[in-house]
Amino acid sequence: MEFLPFTRPDVDEATVQAVAQVLRSGWLATGPKVQELERQLSEFCGGRPVRTLTSATAGLELALLMIGIKPGDEVITPAMSFVATANVIARVGARPVFVDVDLDTRNIDLAAVEAAITPRTRAIMPVHFAGHPLDMDALHALARKHGLRVIEDAAHAIGTRWKGRNIGALGDIVVFSFHPNKNMTTIEGGAVVADDPDELRLLELHRFHGLERHPDGSAECTFPGGKANLTDVAAAVGLGQLARLDSFNARRQELAQRYFDKLHAIPAPRLPARGPTGDHSWHIFAPLLPLDQLRISRGEFIKLMHARGIGVGVHYPAIHLFSYYRGLGYREGQFPNAERIGRETVSLPMFPMMSDADVDRVCAAIADIFKDNAR
Ligand SMILES: *Cc1c(COP(=O)(O)O)cnc(C)c1O
Repeated sequence: MEFLPFTRPDVDEATVQAVAQVLRSGWLATGPKVQELERQLSEFCGGRPVRTLTSATAGLELALLMIGIKPGDEVITPAMSFVATANVIARVGARPVFVDVDLDTRNIDLAAVEAAITPRTRAIMPVHFAGHPLDMDALHALARKHGLRVIEDAAHAIGTRWKGRNIGALGDIVVFSFHPNKNMTTIEGGAVVADDPDELRLLELHRFHGLERHPDGSAECTFPGGKANLTDVAAAVGLGQLARLDSFNARRQELAQRYFDKLHAIPAPRLPARGPTGDHSWHIFAPLLPLDQLRISRGEFIKLMHARGIGVGVHYPAIHLFSYYRGLGYREGQFPNAERIGRETVSLPMFPMMSDADVDRVCAAIADIFKDNAR
């Protein structure tokens, strides 16, 4: 039987042709395709300005810089996310202040956020984990109350909706990822949604050498910007993906529903929160393993799934337990939910090209492994 990976991008023939056209056109780097992708993403985000970049990581970091986050500032962020979410805060010299997440939505605990606010707090960087929408009303009310900026890490959440509106169409600053594992891809790439023209200008300068070009043909560089502009080749991939995003996410929704239906029959794995019907991008589907009821470790479970031709991912180890963050003073026991998720989570195969039979095969394998290895 063919190996079933935990994720796999779906690039159609029309996109392959569009990429070939760009390659033949003589214009490969940032050009008309990037412009078109930014225009379409802006439309997707209710008309808000969008700037593409080479990754979400670059987007998150430059978003922090563009709002003036600097050494000594604190940014509140979940202890459960991909490590990039916290790394960018540290990279601009600010302190990542971790708080715990909900065990089932995996989203940041807003009461814990409020408790973590100090006079140095400048921003909140939450994650729509797995595509489960944050409570946008509560999040932004809290930010307004304390005069904080919000940078949403929406790497999982393109196509997630809050009360019928796309994530990106509301809020403060929103950052998407187009890594091949995400719900749509530009190979590597990301995008920042923001409203303030001065901040957007600063983002563009950070994205391209700090170079300002003047109408008279002269140029000026007032600070050493970096290099994070997307290519037209990548944008051509993105345009083909964005056109199919709704159908991709609809299929993910169906697959998630099938997982819920089938896994309920196995009394054991703790299933993720379902989220509002139809408004969840289902970037990943990650139950928690009942390790206390099994004789095997998570690593052994993953090996047994592999032996049955099924790929399983781990999203993610709790960030504060990585040695760099322990060095900042964080330690075991501070964020019990993040730590438990970090120990028990397994990401099951989830990508639009999967069949219903693939889901059934995954669930049957889990049932078998649990039965063979029950305590
Ligand atoms: C993938 C991911 C990122 C980083 O995205 P890149 O485009 O690979 O830089 C950031 N945050 C989260 C939550 C992610 O899953």
